[in-house]
Amino acid sequence: MALDEPEAGPVEIDEEDEWQLYASAGYATIEPSFEDESDEEENTEEAWFDGDDFDVEANSLNWDAPPCPAPLGIAHVIKLGVCDHCLSRIAGTRISETTSGSEIRSQAYERDPELSSKALQDLCPLCENLFEDVGNITDRVFESLHGTQFSTMQFGIHLPKDLMQEEDRIRTKFGAPGSNPLKGSIVEAIHDNIREQGRNVDFVKERPDVMVLVDGLTLRVDVDVRPVFLYGRYRKLSREIPQTRWPCRACRGRAEGCEACEGSGLQYIDSVQDLIGEPVKEALQADDTSFHGMGREDIDVRCLGSGRPFVLEVKKPRKRIHSVPELVKLVNNNAETKVEVDSLEWCAKSRVNEVKQSRSEKSYTIRFRVEQLGAEEEVIEAIQGLSGQIIEQETPKRVSHRRAAKVRKRKLVSIDDVRVEGDEVQVTMRCEAGTYVKELVHSDEGRTNPSIQEAIGSDCEVIWLDVEEIHAE
Ligand SMILES: [Zn+2]
Ligand SMILES: [Zn+2]
Repeated sequence: MALDEPEAGPVEIDEEDEWQLYASAGYATIEPSFEDESDEEENTEEAWFDGDDFDVEANSLNWDAPPCPAPLGIAHVIKLGVCDHCLSRIAGTRISETTSGSEIRSQAYERDPELSSKALQDLCPLCENLFEDVGNITDRVFESLHGTQFSTMQFGIHLPKDLMQEEDRIRTKFGAPGSNPLKGSIVEAIHDNIREQGRNVDFVKERPDVMVLVDGLTLRVDVDVRPVFLYGRYRKLSREIPQTRWPCRACRGRAEGCEACEGSGLQYIDSVQDLIGEPVKEALQADDTSFHGMGREDIDVRCLGSGRPFVLEVKKPRKRIHSVPELVKLVNNNAETKVEVDSLEWCAKSRVNEVKQSRSEKSYTIRFRVEQLGAEEEVIEAIQGLSGQIIEQETPKRVSHRRAAKVRKRKLVSIDDVRVEGDEVQVTMRCEAGTYVKELVHSDEGRTNPSIQEAIGSDCEVIWLDVEEIHAE
């Protein structure tokens, strides 16, 4: 059965994707512990202890303000101006399990009626009242994602470093041991808020459908809708189609195009990328596609057999759940007589590199005209003689403008069929990955050695070339 949803692939760490790293860093709740610089003036009478066994968890014990959950500790953090959310967060798990922040506060006021007038400030020193913005942040997140289908989210929040340092200092000194740090707590509060709104979202740390990064200072929300990937193999039945989109040479692909490209901005109206990618892009309401092929053939070369493996990257899809057989149908209807796809499957991003790095042997059929053709049997024998040979190829003239000059050694694995028809010869052969096949026939002015031209002792001119099979697993 075809998968209708992207599969959960292996965990991958995408080093190139800084955004993801940024967001992950934003999510991390473990901050480096800051040294406690807060031995305050009240502690001076402890000097005669010589700084020994009164240290509790690296904090000097403060008899006036012991850490929460001691009532004096709770009173102290209320005096510091801590908000109800943070009060609940640092008062101690036993208390906060059954008692809300405001109840903890009322109880403290009952114990010490003067406490209510002693709070130092309106702005919570632990969170700068960020918890009040949780609903607001949630609204902004869903506004940014309006119309986007997703089921998993990676959520990050960026907080000012000085706020986190100050929060850490107060919490480790006066908070109950084991209290949740600010960043993790605020993220959790936002997660809860999103769930309370009945949104069906899984919060994940890897491979999310969408990544959300919130700036805790400005409440700016950045949303990154992650691409989906489809693996398949294409057959190219035309000799006039490049694999990927080619910008127009005259206008370099300006948006409005030019006369030469009739406003398309493209050198070739069709490409395998767009014939396959455009219907998928439309179906998934995506922004764009990238095409990653297992190598490529020249524009005038067909690709037959079971086709060339590729991964289509679909960028910013609003829809990410779709019937795959339906997509295959859309592609084949769109690309009729030009490109064919038998099947597609959702895949992980890691498949892109697998496809690009894969080196497979290929079978080709090439047809060429021979200037002075000798006896048929001799020609066939001469060509068969190349079977199994190592071919040395200098970088061909036709690609030397974009490839460094060097000599490649490639094996001509086998000559499988030779046909002579008039002054034309047609050869089917299997070659190691990366063999320049046209050059193997016409020798590229002696830069490929040995060659068919040399073997039969007459000039050869290539008529056409087909990739018969790509021997990928
Ligand atoms: Zn607070
Ligand atoms: Zn143009």
